[in-house]
Amino acid sequence: MKAAMLENQGVMTYKEAPTPIPEPGHDRLQVKAVSICGSDIKRYVSGHRLYPLILGHECAGVIDSVGEGVSEDLLGKHASVIPVVPCFECEQCQRGLYSACHSYSFIGSRQAGGFADYLELPERNALIVPDELPFEYVALIEPSTVARHMLALGDFKRGETAVVLGAGSIGLMIVQWLRILGASLTICTDVSDDNLATAKKLGAHVTLNPLRDDVVAEVRRLTGDGVDISLEAAGVPQTLEQTVPLTRPRGKVICGGNQPLDKSLPLSFIENMMRRELSIIGCFMSYSAPFPGHEWTDTVAALLDGSLDMETMISHRYSLAETPDVFAQIGSHSLTHRKIMLYPEGAAA
Ligand SMILES: [Zn+2]
Ligand SMILES: [Zn+2]
Repeated sequence: MKAAMLENQGVMTYKEAPTPIPEPGHDRLQVKAVSICGSDIKRYVSGHRLYPLILGHECAGVIDSVGEGVSEDLLGKHASVIPVVPCFECEQCQRGLYSACHSYSFIGSRQAGGFADYLELPERNALIVPDELPFEYVALIEPSTVARHMLALGDFKRGETAVVLGAGSIGLMIVQWLRILGASLTICTDVSDDNLATAKKLGAHVTLNPLRDDVVAEVRRLTGDGVDISLEAAGVPQTLEQTVPLTRPRGKVICGGNQPLDKSLPLSFIENMMRRELSIIGCFMSYSAPFPGHEWTDTVAALLDGSLDMETMISHRYSLAETPDVFAQIGSHSLTHRKIMLYPEGAAA
């Protein structure tokens, strides 16, 4: 088969690789569509612990081969990849906290991912979906589940108000879930007016650009003492710090953006958080019990009833063979993008 291979920091090739054969209890997926995650870009730009590696965990395809012990009824089924591979035995797995598994693997970062013609995975890591869903929407299930999980962690309730900081892929998915779950006010902030226009289209009532707007003053003007829930999806220290004055007393702050580890915040952040008695909640991946969790079934349901707009999430489509060139363009910041879809059978698919 052909695969896009991360060979080293900043080095991606498209070449021949062994076609995987499913182990007992595993399936093989013929990949139909796979999208590029911000974490794939980070592994390319900043380096990764494991080379060579096939990246890609936002992936959809057709089950074309099954290993020993797996029902042949699965052949021909369409599936979305559930990337975390927990041990299902450790203390945290027993508690249903799969992303805290002591020895998990992850498809596309710790084992071969979907930037390839074929992908081999445990049977329970293939989420079977109805044939009527387009493969590119099925590939985008995983980033939607992260947004859905952030709102579940914040125990979001219909009628509440929210600020979404960052209108990248996850932020835009959060804006959509706030619309679907019935937020009374969704405010979205980003430094890109293009991203804000997309957020507005997907359901944000108010958009603010911190390069131009006084975000805290404007949110206070609209809400009085702040919103019920703030969702940090930018991974920027300044936006993390902003969450505290943006959130009402006893409100919730959900942290989903990966922050730069060489930066810090003044401890006034904690003092202000204490004065407002805020809950600050971390989010890692998108899983709950029973595996993989309601985040996944909720997303499939929202795709089937048309409430999740995946079309607007996609900005570019390329054939998988173009992957090295696409990553080179992203690495040199010469490509402004939302979700980029890759197709092993060509971009016209
Ligand atoms: Zn991802
Ligand atoms: Zn475990």
